[in-house]
Amino acid sequence: MSNTRRGLPLTSSRIEKIFPKLTPAQIDRIAVHGHVRSVQSGEVLIDQGDRNVPFFVVMAGELEIVRPFGAHETLVTVHGPNEFTGEVNMLSGRRSLVRARVTKPGKVIELDHQQMLGLVQADAELSGILMRAFILRRVELIAAGVGDIVLVGSTYSAGTLRIREFLMRNGHPYSYIDLERDPDIQNLLDSFHVSASEIPVLICRGQIVLRNPSNQEIADCLGFNESIDQTHVRDLIIIGAGPSGLAAAVYGASEGLDVLMLETGSPGGQAGSSSRIENYLGFPTGISGQELAARAYNQAQKFGAHMLVARAARLICDHKPYVVELENGTRISTRTVLIATGAQYRKLPLENLSRFDGAGIYYGATFVEAQLCGGNEVIVVGGGNSAGQAAVFLAQTAKRVYMLVRSNSLAASMSRYLIRRIENSPTIILRLQTEIVAVEGKDRLESVYWRNSQTGQTEKHEIGHLFIMTGADPNTRWLNGCIALDDKGFIKTGPDLSPDNLSAAGWPLTRQPYLLETSLPDVFAVGDVRGGSIKRVASAVGEGSTGISFVHKVLQE
Ligand SMILES: Cc1cc2nc3c(=O)[nH]c(=O)nc-3n(C[C@H](O)[C@H](O)[C@H](O)COP(=O)(O)OP(=O)(O)OC[C@H]3O[C@@H](n4cnc5c(N)ncnc54)[C@H](O)[C@@H]3O)c2cc1C
Repeated sequence: MSNTRRGLPLTSSRIEKIFPKLTPAQIDRIAVHGHVRSVQSGEVLIDQGDRNVPFFVVMAGELEIVRPFGAHETLVTVHGPNEFTGEVNMLSGRRSLVRARVTKPGKVIELDHQQMLGLVQADAELSGILMRAFILRRVELIAAGVGDIVLVGSTYSAGTLRIREFLMRNGHPYSYIDLERDPDIQNLLDSFHVSASEIPVLICRGQIVLRNPSNQEIADCLGFNESIDQTHVRDLIIIGAGPSGLAAAVYGASEGLDVLMLETGSPGGQAGSSSRIENYLGFPTGISGQELAARAYNQAQKFGAHMLVARAARLICDHKPYVVELENGTRISTRTVLIATGAQYRKLPLENLSRFDGAGIYYGATFVEAQLCGGNEVIVVGGGNSAGQAAVFLAQTAKRVYMLVRSNSLAASMSRYLIRRIENSPTIILRLQTEIVAVEGKDRLESVYWRNSQTGQTEKHEIGHLFIMTGADPNTRWLNGCIALDDKGFIKTGPDLSPDNLSAAGWPLTRQPYLLETSLPDVFAVGDVRGGSIKRVASAVGEGSTGISFVHKVLQE
């Protein structure tokens, strides 16, 4: 990954931040946390697929970092004296994407995974240098598609889009081969005994072949979950890694709690599907939801929070400690629970809609979807901020964006700055009082019919890309009656719980529920899933962090 050395070309000019040279004083401070040892030419210090890999600082000699694939190796970079190994997997303990081999004998400082975490938590200056380098290195690996997996898919397959989003939003680099654009791919498929009809296919570390795998299967294959102990009783389980869950993980872990997050997809939640968040404090030029989520996730890991890629399927609440049951049947016990499961996009009431999920119909507008749409016409449905952002974002690349809104004005539902941009964009055509009445297509979406509710007139448009951004319903069905909900299915907390709610739930304590506490003692709800919450990133983050102060309180009771 260097301009001056052999290796991958850098997309970034910030080479001194990606491969900083440590000063003698900094090296001395690192040495206190680990031990110094000699290394010999040819010695493999880290192999691809190793977990909880150690961290090395080169004192003398040289290491090469390569990406093995089958019998081949691609050189990623070379580390010389005063340089160090590692990228973000160093924090999570996940499997190494690369191999580190000694090319010139010398001396290294070695820190194991726990010693490395101890170092970044204790030394602010080194934490800044190492964290920045790890994150920027991962960004370079993603840009170069250097990972331990190859995805073979098709632009026209919903499964391919799901997997690409899962990998991208989990910040996992991968190589992508598209059947439509690379007909020679059949040779690769043949070598793994896979037929083209079985795509999307994921090849893990050149060995394991998964046909249209679920998120959980991908996570298992990549070893996302295996460095996490699922057997001991946790202080806190956070369910959902959207902004509220991530904020709770950062505050909880940094304040010494033993925190486990469960997330069915990838960190970021709804915010992760936003192309640009411009109203979150401290980011005057805006930040993409994915970048915000990646930063928060790395921050949570730095303080020692863990994340399992798994769906919470049931809360077992009839005894303490409470138990969260995962979709695969695994049960994890915990003293407290923080529910941050947010909300899920609403679908349009059209019979054949789900046939085109990912094949022309999308529920988020990020770089991946924009690439799929190319310079074609697109439709965005919805009158809220998420729809407005999507329209403005897609207008940068699409030929035309039709924005369909059911009401007769945007003023009540959208921020003023977005309305102004929509009005000023020659590419966006706003259609008020308009609803989609039918969609058509063979293998993918081909045409859309919409009707103006005032004139009753229906129009057919041959457009193959439809973005549905029409609000969301709470993710609370899995709670199976353990917790009081309001009439729309959101969780009731604190003062919103009536005496009737509490007696129906059998509230056993003399004190009233705390501010964000549910009808079940020691179980809290934050962010969009909570009834009456303000559906914004800042309020979700605020509630996530506030929730932690109440977790401390109940743990001391
Ligand atoms: C496209 C879009 C753009 C937006 N733009 C802005 C903006 O510019 N500014 C702003 O302030 N707000 C914006 N919002 C709103 C903001 O994103 C939300 O208010 C915020 O994400 C809510 O955070 P949350 O953590 O409460 O829930 P969510 O973000 O909904 O996260 C919940 C998480 O829980 C996970 N989950 C659900 N069920 C389970 C389960 N059973 N087990 C495990 N995990 C589970 C989900 O996968 C998800 O990751 C936008 C929303 C969208 C959709």
